[in-house]
Amino acid sequence: MNELTSLTLADARDGLRQKRFSADELTAAHLAAMEQARALNAFVLETPERAREMAKACDARLARGEAGPLEGIPLAVKDMFCTAGIRSTACSRILRDFVPTYESTVTANLWRDGAVLIGKTNCDEFAMGSSNETSCFGSVISPWRPRGANTPLTPGGSSGGSAAAVAARLCLGATGTDTGGSIRQPAALTGTVGMKPTYGRCSRWGIVAFASSLDQAGPFARTVRDAAILLRSMAGPDPKDATCADLPVPDYEQAVGRSVKGLRIGVPKEYRLDGMPAEIETLWQQGGEWLRNAGAELVEVSLPHTRYALPAYYIVCPAEASSNLARYDGVRYGLRVEGGDINAMYEATRAAGFGREVRRRVMIGTYVLSAGYYDAYYLRAQKVRTLIKQDFEQVFARGIDAILTPATPSAAFALGEKSGSDPIEMYLNDVFTVTVNMAGLPGLAVPAGLDARGLPLGLQLIGRPFDEATLFSLGHVIEQAAGHFAPERWW
Ligand code: GLN
Repeated sequence: MNELTSLTLADARDGLRQKRFSADELTAAHLAAMEQARALNAFVLETPERAREMAKACDARLARGEAGPLEGIPLAVKDMFCTAGIRSTACSRILRDFVPTYESTVTANLWRDGAVLIGKTNCDEFAMGSSNETSCFGSVISPWRPRGANTPLTPGGSSGGSAAAVAARLCLGATGTDTGGSIRQPAALTGTVGMKPTYGRCSRWGIVAFASSLDQAGPFARTVRDAAILLRSMAGPDPKDATCADLPVPDYEQAVGRSVKGLRIGVPKEYRLDGMPAEIETLWQQGGEWLRNAGAELVEVSLPHTRYALPAYYIVCPAEASSNLARYDGVRYGLRVEGGDINAMYEATRAAGFGREVRRRVMIGTYVLSAGYYDAYYLRAQKVRTLIKQDFEQVFARGIDAILTPATPSAAFALGEKSGSDPIEMYLNDVFTVTVNMAGLPGLAVPAGLDARGLPLGLQLIGRPFDEATLFSLGHVIEQAAGHFAPERWW
């Protein structure tokens, strides 16, 4: 059984087609692994019955030779995605008992292609966070531990459950959402591969809205090839989301292994931060070397507005969140706490239903959008956003094919270490990832090494709009050179 959970998604797919094992066996192995890993708190809902049912249907299709691209592949889904008939909470008390009647487009695409749902994964409440500590179901504990210590670490956030589940081999892949780094940062902290596609590559329909102009769904996997396979199924046009691009989806797997000779890789000087650990700097240079050895050319580039990205993000993002979260009013769905009149009911419901970080964002967002402050904060942040986007456009116009940066400013930190009274401590984690959401570009996090304590570190590749394929080619080169990293099992 153990062997089945060690397969890559691509190998599992091939093994199923060659009838070396059945979808039922593959699913059973992962269900057992999930049950044995409850100490990680990666799942907020296990769906074993649904999984077995789906796997049986997969075996029937495999027997008939009608296998879809993901036939029989056990996956986990972040609890931000609505799944029909299956509780979907965004890890918030306000949606704690919410069972949608409809399916998100991304997950529907996965089931269409034959994937099997094993459960819904834990995340920060409404995906607001970088450590998975704001979930109403409690924190996820990373499967990684510092060498020789048992300090509980964060798997990163907000998609911490998906990252932990993939790293701990509880599933062959998982979905995440990334508004400011929530796929790439947890991927980097858990030694997994995470892709945030171009804004509009995947439909947002049926995903709980956080900051609509920044939100994008994407995959977690243990290899670049597996992430490429997953994205192909997840992506595609959708008439139900007006911001979803009406563009065909390439076969991303073909890009894996493609030569990167002659590609020009930008290295932005503004991403060299004061106080950044030397290990991160070394890793970044190493990544550049690997790409150069594969025939790519490294070019120093400048993205001058980088330093304004975090403050601008933390205005635009709460502004959109405060507007999106206005719908949780205790009237239509979700939690209701009775009050004397309707205003008292709204207040009581929202006070009881939202956690601290969510309330903070709603208040900041409401403030920056209010008459009198709109121009000073929101409008100015939008202007900065345009400048950030232009920085990237100018670099790409110079013939740069992709940009290489660290994925995070440090390896995983301890639970509780950055969740104290100063929220900025946590926000600083997003320094390398938010720019990519502000500009709507694709970003790939690839594991690239371990730090002195034996914890994973990742690199980020940023691409031109809708050029995820080049990122998969480059990511594969880094993966080939760096190798794979798996946590030692303690759970
Ligand atoms: N950490 C960022 C935030 O809290 C990003 C979250 C995300 O990408 N969902 O806003």
